[in-house]
Amino acid sequence: MLKYIILTIFSLITTATFAQDTDTLVTSVADSIKRDSVVVNRRVAPVHTLGEVTVIDTIATANSAISILLFNDNTWRYLLAEDFRNDSTVFCDHWNTTATNAYADVELNSLAEATPIRLVDSIKSYHYPYIGRITSRYGPRRGRPHQGIDMALKIGDPVYATFDGKVRLSKAAGNYGNLVIIRHCNGLETYYAHLSERSVQTGDWVVAGQQIGLGGNTGRSTGPHLHYEVRYRGQSFDPERIIDFKTGELRREELLLKRRHFSIYAKFEQDFDDEIEAEKQEEAERKAAAAIQYHTVRSGDTLGALARKYGTTVSRICQLNNIKSTSILRIGQRLRVR
Ligand SMILES: [Zn+2]
Repeated sequence: MLKYIILTIFSLITTATFAQDTDTLVTSVADSIKRDSVVVNRRVAPVHTLGEVTVIDTIATANSAISILLFNDNTWRYLLAEDFRNDSTVFCDHWNTTATNAYADVELNSLAEATPIRLVDSIKSYHYPYIGRITSRYGPRRGRPHQGIDMALKIGDPVYATFDGKVRLSKAAGNYGNLVIIRHCNGLETYYAHLSERSVQTGDWVVAGQQIGLGGNTGRSTGPHLHYEVRYRGQSFDPERIIDFKTGELRREELLLKRRHFSIYAKFEQDFDDEIEAEKQEEAERKAAAAIQYHTVRSGDTLGALARKYGTTVSRICQLNNIKSTSILRIGQRLRVR
């Protein structure tokens, strides 16, 4: 019965939104998929909490590459068939299931000045890894680079996969303690460290929001916390660039990753403040520049007439040009009037 109701809602949503939403269905992963063959549209699912949401059914679509997962909270999402997921070079290039950094031989200088990364689309989803009090941010810390963000947690709290992807590594890894590294379809890798338990194995496919382990205090850790890193081709950057850890929300669907972001000193907040400050400054300069006006003195001009013409006062013109109100104007003299 429940299933029947959901399917009814489904077909209503489908009929209502199909026409205008088809444009958003084209994705890089689904390039080979005919747009017409996707028969329903995705409704953005609310944030899932483990234990509350389970898959109750899987429905085939007209396209064999895509099926639909139905959850018990009346939400749903697309699932790309494994053959298609494996198609991506992301999961072949530098695929190393033993080394923490699979891209150790990739030089920072070989990366583009700016790389646009589509974080999510109609098939690829997002889920926060964990929401907790931030105890340490990305950046230098006691003379060592802290390449991720730390969040306090209780041992046993569930930790979730950030995006869809494949587990590249799941093992006890020295300072990281129990570590899971997921490589995502969008090309990023996320690291989940100090786990008390790992619930996924190397090679497993995971979807965003799937529990990948439990929070812990293993490895080089002075209290239960999640150490979370985001990397692109082995280079870490501030995870706060993509996630607002206060709300758990993804900050943007498309990330323009700049090479300078890979510096341990390139903190998101600081960068953000700088950008806002720089923008304000530029705006002020633009306004100031646009406001400045000059007048070239012609025969018959007087300060009084110029003040009237430019909507200002004689004393203001005098102040701007360091002249007295009794000064004689010269023909061809350039006066700042505003
Ligand atoms: Zn940390």
